[in-house]
Amino acid sequence: MLKGIAASEGIGIGKVVVIRQQDITFEQKTVANVHQEIDRLHAAVDQFMANTEKLAEEMEKSVNPKEAQIIRGHMAMLSDPFMVSQMDDMIKNDSICAEAAAQTVLDMFKAMFQGAEDELTQQRATDVEDIKTRLLKLLLGIKDADLKTLPAGTVLVVGDLTPSMTAELNRDNIAAIVTESGGMTSHSAILSRALEIPAVLSVLNATVTLKDSATVIVDGMSGTVINDPTVAQLEEYEKKQADYMAEKERLRAYIGKETLTADGIKKEVFCNIGNPKDGIKAKEKDGEGVGLFRTEFLFMDRESMPDEQEQYEAYKKVCDTLENKTVIIRTLDVGGDKEIPYMNLAKEENPFLGFRAVRYCLKNKEQYSLQLRALIRANADTTGNLWIMVPMIATVAEFKEVKALIEDLAAELEMPVPKVGTMVETPAAFIMADKLAKYCDFFSIGTNDLTQYIMVADRGNSQVAYLYNTYDPAVLRAIKQIIETGVNAGIPVGMCGEAAADPLLIPLLISFGMTEFSVSPTSVLKTRAEIARWSKAEADKVAQEVLALETADEAFACLESHVRG
Ligand code: PEP
Ligand code: MG
Repeated sequence: MLKGIAASEGIGIGKVVVIRQQDITFEQKTVANVHQEIDRLHAAVDQFMANTEKLAEEMEKSVNPKEAQIIRGHMAMLSDPFMVSQMDDMIKNDSICAEAAAQTVLDMFKAMFQGAEDELTQQRATDVEDIKTRLLKLLLGIKDADLKTLPAGTVLVVGDLTPSMTAELNRDNIAAIVTESGGMTSHSAILSRALEIPAVLSVLNATVTLKDSATVIVDGMSGTVINDPTVAQLEEYEKKQADYMAEKERLRAYIGKETLTADGIKKEVFCNIGNPKDGIKAKEKDGEGVGLFRTEFLFMDRESMPDEQEQYEAYKKVCDTLENKTVIIRTLDVGGDKEIPYMNLAKEENPFLGFRAVRYCLKNKEQYSLQLRALIRANADTTGNLWIMVPMIATVAEFKEVKALIEDLAAELEMPVPKVGTMVETPAAFIMADKLAKYCDFFSIGTNDLTQYIMVADRGNSQVAYLYNTYDPAVLRAIKQIIETGVNAGIPVGMCGEAAADPLLIPLLISFGMTEFSVSPTSVLKTRAEIARWSKAEADKVAQEVLALETADEAFACLESHVRG
């Protein structure tokens, strides 16, 4: 079994076709007539433009206009007057051939993109490489491998899948794609997702290990490639593939739709994300916003704290990706089970009850201010839909202190104050929810922690896992009360704990009046579909029954019979 990056969902079973990189080496020549050589270069550039325009038009029909922009981007790059005039100058001044001039200039641009800080700009280097290869092939008269006529059931195995290659694929004939390079945000990943072709990228030596005509299974969910599968494996994956396709077909009806209950009450399905790149997933998976950006991931796996500018860029990137949708960003939630070595937090007897999240931040105000300033600036520089969320609030005083700090910083920056809300994840916040609501622009229920604190059962301790149960009537009653308190105070109430995606709990959350469900990007459509099953009246009936029960087991059984029965 080979491992790679799971870049596009789905399961593909088919026969390998390895596309080998064509040799585009050439001999650098000195030319006698530089004007003629410049004309030859311009003719190749014109041909490149015409071919690319055709490719983009085909893509508009077969994929969608947005993805065709990637290919049009190649035209824009090459029509930059600076790029071609530099090639012209090299030919004129050094009497070198068009191939050598094109290669030198494009390699220079490639190196420039590779040196960029952020991954998205780095990916542009692949685009330049793609342009270079295609332009050189035109100059050298090398014909491309014909990807349009690959046989049905092809598993395409290639070193790097360039955008132009992807654009040429006949989607119906390609069972899956395997490459040796590329990441989640590479154009080949974006395009394979847009074409809905299962893809596993960055599989080491794939073009050598996988042989032409061999049968392979490509699992775009787990990022695995099974070479020469056994009969049992084939049967297993054929079943998985059929299940995946059936579920996808069922959920297709909800793409791009509003989230509505069966009786037309408007809800929203947002996404939980851990880094700016996940923002792309949230958008692709049709999230209506981001309900929780866990910023602590920006602080992990590194030697020192990200500075204000780096944070600003990360927050702005998510807002830019989500365009004008709401993006709720949670301020740093360290401590508990989230350890960040360079912060040198002291070991504690009870980390979940200790110096965590907002408690740490308010004692390190200078550092907290960097994050808050980055958030205020990102909000001001985008569409103003960035909401700040504070974790682990236990007292009204804490929330007021954070809010005052945000107001002071915004005044200093002469920028608008973003919306500020709290996670409701401590029993104290739940009990004081009516008072907190006076100062909060929104609530978001963190059921992962709320469950552990209400049940006094550590969320990671298997010995007490039987108590850590969101179906426990104590937790369900707390959820009901929080939602109703927020709704009565006229503020939106969402949920960003795992429970928001639990189909069994959805009728209860509808009955209690919750408006926003924040789930992992892959659960968006499923959650939207589950919400659509329930009218308020039916949900109320379920809630009434469940709230009369005494134990978690009874609540679970009752919900199961209503939801799955
Ligand atoms: C929660 O507690 O429900 C939550 C969403 O936050 P985390 O899981 O990051 O503590
Ligand atoms: Mg939490």
